[in-house]
Amino acid sequence: MSRAVEKFPFWTNWNRNLTFRPEQLARPDSLEALSRIIVGAAGEGRTVRPVGSGISYTPLVQTDHLMLSLDAFSGVERVDAAAGTAVVGAGTRLGTLARELARHGLALANLGDIDRQTVAGAVATGTHGTGITIGSLSSQIVAMTIVDGTGCVRQLDADRAPELLRVARVGLGALGVITSITLKVQPAQPLLVEREGTTLAKLLRDLDTLVRANRNFEFFWFPRHGLAYSKKMNEVPGRRPAGGVLQRAKRFANDILVENALIWVACECVRRWPGSRQRLLDVGGHLVPNETMVLEPHRAYATPRLVRHYEVEYAIPYGRASEALGLLDETLARHPVKTMFPVEVRFTAAEDIPLSMSQGRDVVYIAVHAYRREDYRELFDLCEDLFLRLDGRPHWGKLHSLQSGELRRRYPCWDEFQAARAALDPAGVFENGYLRRVLGPRPAPAPA
Ligand SMILES: Cc1cc2nc3c(=O)[nH]c(=O)nc-3n(C[C@H](O)[C@H](O)[C@H](O)COP(=O)(O)OP(=O)(O)OC[C@H]3O[C@@H](n4cnc5c(N)ncnc54)[C@H](O)[C@@H]3O)c2cc1C
Repeated sequence: MSRAVEKFPFWTNWNRNLTFRPEQLARPDSLEALSRIIVGAAGEGRTVRPVGSGISYTPLVQTDHLMLSLDAFSGVERVDAAAGTAVVGAGTRLGTLARELARHGLALANLGDIDRQTVAGAVATGTHGTGITIGSLSSQIVAMTIVDGTGCVRQLDADRAPELLRVARVGLGALGVITSITLKVQPAQPLLVEREGTTLAKLLRDLDTLVRANRNFEFFWFPRHGLAYSKKMNEVPGRRPAGGVLQRAKRFANDILVENALIWVACECVRRWPGSRQRLLDVGGHLVPNETMVLEPHRAYATPRLVRHYEVEYAIPYGRASEALGLLDETLARHPVKTMFPVEVRFTAAEDIPLSMSQGRDVVYIAVHAYRREDYRELFDLCEDLFLRLDGRPHWGKLHSLQSGELRRRYPCWDEFQAARAALDPAGVFENGYLRRVLGPRPAPAPA
């Protein structure tokens, strides 16, 4: 057995809704070792699943055979400020990357609401932030190195393999193991962050203006109660980011006390006394602070998420955003919603990546959450029925009920992905049950 491969007792994801026992965990530390592992597994008819930070809710990484950690492929390999690019190891955490770029005076165009994911894991599921003019992290990829299902190392870039690069930007770990990614980066501009308590009705009145007038706009809304709060972020070149004790105290108050401790206490209260929800939200409306601060980009986007929960998130055509939110409000008004987690609403730009949730259209992302000790199924089924009627596409890393037939109808470039899957993984070394469910059977490779 290679020293890069070890026995592994069991594995569980961040939310602990997925636990299984891979036969082995491999941590290759070179392209050669990685390639050998894949060739060896394929030869023995075993399967391999790459894992990032293990944050996805869906069983994308599940395997009975070999799990691959890319921890040894971590760190920023090269920064080219003039070209606006950074070459990054696949296992680098997004937060580490953002902090390292900040040391060079650079930043990513955007980030989601946590930064613990690995770069490869994040792009594999089309991870996004918010901003109607900005695409997902996958849209920022300039080049990638992957090891395919035959053990072959492939450089994907605009000159050598532009079509494969386009497809592999959101690959679900089904096309190969990414070892490094070249991402676009930009000069780090301070961001003016404005948080404000409001109501869904007010937000819906001006939705398009708010979305278009702010670089990054999102909001959180508590269903069956009008309470909402919005977060706007805009670049303010030349402004000095806040520092010092006051700023740290304000961030702690918002990020840990309001967005975690308060939510956890509220979830536990409602679990014990379901009738308390309305009253808690009435009181909560007075506790959400309105605040404004200037932050460096690597401190502005993400917030720690400490309360475990379930989540379903769909991307719906942006043109239907108000209709979708209005219908969700009406639907949930008829449902005895107990969750104290808010619905999260974000916006991103269209992109040309076959399996991107925003392929070909600007989208509104609507995410519904439930505390991990709640039964979320009825609530999520109801929301999914609505999102599907509105031509939605589920987030690849979050809970959903769709199978390949239904997904195929929602992705116009589906067959391009399947052709790449057949070409890059001819023996099915990266298969698992979940990929068979969402992608369907692997097509036969095209004749040479
Ligand atoms: C609290 C929380 C907050 C979140 N916030 C956001 C958000 O703001 N925006 C958003 O879009 N999503 C969000 N997500 C979803 C999350 O970004 C995705 O699930 C992401 O894929 C997790 O990254 P990971 O590194 O944990 O990857 P994993 O969950 O470990 O793996 C995800 C996929 O990546 C593949 N993969 C991992 N490494 C490689 C590799 N080297 N080569 C090829 N494939 C690989 C895996 O095989 C798998 O298919 C959130 C999830 C949680 C739980």
